[in-house]
Amino acid sequence: MHLYKHPEDLKTYIESKRLSGKTIGFVPTMGALHEGHLSLLKESKKTCDITVCSIFVNPAQFNNREDFVKYPKTLSDDILLLEENDCDILFLPYEAEIYPDELSRIKHFDLGYLETILEGKFRPGHFQGVCLIVEKLLKIVRPGFLFLGQKDFQQCMVIRKLLEIMHSETKLIICPTVREKSGLAKSSRNLRLTNTEQVLAAELHEALATIQNQLRPDNFLSLKKKAIVELENLNFNVEYLELATSDNLELISAYRSGQQIVILIAAYFHGVRLIDNLLINS
Ligand code: AMP
Repeated sequence: MHLYKHPEDLKTYIESKRLSGKTIGFVPTMGALHEGHLSLLKESKKTCDITVCSIFVNPAQFNNREDFVKYPKTLSDDILLLEENDCDILFLPYEAEIYPDELSRIKHFDLGYLETILEGKFRPGHFQGVCLIVEKLLKIVRPGFLFLGQKDFQQCMVIRKLLEIMHSETKLIICPTVREKSGLAKSSRNLRLTNTEQVLAAELHEALATIQNQLRPDNFLSLKKKAIVELENLNFNVEYLELATSDNLELISAYRSGQQIVILIAAYFHGVRLIDNLLINS
């Protein structure tokens, strides 16, 4: 595996590969890698000649300083995992090269409605920070394919919008959520929970699965109320539990049979913010 720390060096190397006809796949991450990240890497390796994975804990997307400081960092393990899984290139940029000055952090992306709901509503500025870093990374890597996880469903919609704004030709591939046996979605933040807490945290997915099973076109609001009471009794602090159309994330309380919908949840559990979602083909 090649390791690049300077954007210009990586650009030059990738450009030479592109000129020789190689397709480039890109998997951006914030490290503390797990099976979820590796599933994106595997998908990229299946689709592309060369896979670039980046690790950068992007300060601009944290609306909460404590969350940034406590974000898990396991770099030496990450490098081993990437090597074991035949990643071709690891991009590990320095913050000072990504954000050399104040100006490099100032840019507004017109995300419209997408930024006003769910994660956008509860984490003001978060998606602006995500777009800021992803745009910079895309301009460096210029991948043919970009691999993202469904686990961050709204983020996928935001990046789809960013690609439109950039008039990018990069093709977005959304990969399914990888879960623990318990159903808990794998996440770097799970490392901040004890083993026992991780087992209990699976109730979040259980709540979504129950709604999925019992959902009828007009009963979401009563299922939502019941699920929130049950989760709060188990010490979750639910920020949102919503039903939305899966193509444009319009929040809905009822649906028509045949509509593609998604249930999304965010909740704190023992001080750790967890998100999850389930797609439903109604
Ligand atoms: P992160 O390092 O959390 O910023 O995530 C980097 C990428 O991995 C994003 O596209 C995430 O959606 C994806 N990802 C994170 N967790 C999972 C998971 N459990 N299953 C699939 N993809 C995931």
